[in-house]
Amino acid sequence: MLLAINSSNQYCFANLANRSENYRCPACKKPVVLRHGQQNVAHFAHQVQAGCHSFTEGETIDHLLGKMALYRYFAKDYQVVVEPVLSQISQRPDLLVKRPRGTDLAIEYQCSSIGRKRLQERNQGLESLGLEVLWVLGPAYYHRRLSGELTCRFLYCGRLFFYVPKQKRFDTRFNFSKTDFHKLQYESQTGFGAVLSSVANGTDNDERVGRQLTGQPIVNQTRLVSSTSDLVQHLLYQRTKLTLLMVQGRVKVDLINYLYERGHRLDQLPDWCLLGQAFGLAVPNWHFRLVLVLLLERVGLNHWIFEERLSARLRQYFYPSFQDHEKILKATYADLAASGVICLQDNKILVIKLLQFVAD
Ligand SMILES: [Zn+2]
Repeated sequence: MLLAINSSNQYCFANLANRSENYRCPACKKPVVLRHGQQNVAHFAHQVQAGCHSFTEGETIDHLLGKMALYRYFAKDYQVVVEPVLSQISQRPDLLVKRPRGTDLAIEYQCSSIGRKRLQERNQGLESLGLEVLWVLGPAYYHRRLSGELTCRFLYCGRLFFYVPKQKRFDTRFNFSKTDFHKLQYESQTGFGAVLSSVANGTDNDERVGRQLTGQPIVNQTRLVSSTSDLVQHLLYQRTKLTLLMVQGRVKVDLINYLYERGHRLDQLPDWCLLGQAFGLAVPNWHFRLVLVLLLERVGLNHWIFEERLSARLRQYFYPSFQDHEKILKATYADLAASGVICLQDNKILVIKLLQFVAD
């Protein structure tokens, strides 16, 4: 830890600590010792390891460096508490950023891997105190390819945040999109800069930050397909890949059978099903879109369905930790409406055209 209490009951940073002074842990009040790591990162450690539940010992150099860098970053503009003792929940996030408006922001700098359950517990604990949580990821995350699921776990306002101590690099990733049979795509930006300050100010997330951060092409085809020949190529590639999956027996038999009973073949699914690029889905885009096409087929031509009833059937196809599914659903309906398949009115959807499966 970076902070301890001295004999006059004041908080003291490890890098300003005095070797002859006695220090105690702010949480359990037991004695701690001053240490200088290999790379001279001063920190405190419990004299006796056991017994302090609110703080994990054995912070790595990276973790200490990152915490310090993040502290300096936020302390320029905000009141920041380092390693706050939150005794109600026995948790000590790395930092607590006091925002002039909106809720306070707990910052966790995560270097090691963390299980889904433990992450959920940490989030729930902090949220129960009315805090928002921002996870900043360390080098181990920065340097590897993150799965869609893992990405969803750490998103804040549609962004991933990174800090790499060796390079003193602040970085964010955003505008995630996922084309089937391609790796995850995103844009990145160096520095938290204006992004985080507008977030940290507690300004209107949805209006300003939201649009800027996540409002960009969620379901968009421009990045993928810029000309007709590109579109033809793309569809051919997707259909071939999908056929290969079938041949390899990697598509669920019940889905294929379900289609067969309705006179459809998976490899003949409508082109529209192959054009999805939505990020946040736990299934491929083609699967998600196919389900939607089949649901609309069941509603029937010139029949209405409540938008909510349709959405209720589709939410299960997103990662549980993904927050923006309503945006994706809306964008997908809008795309269908623009293609003349459905007509949106208030909270209802009218089916005006059934998407055709392609012929041999
Ligand atoms: Zn302690």
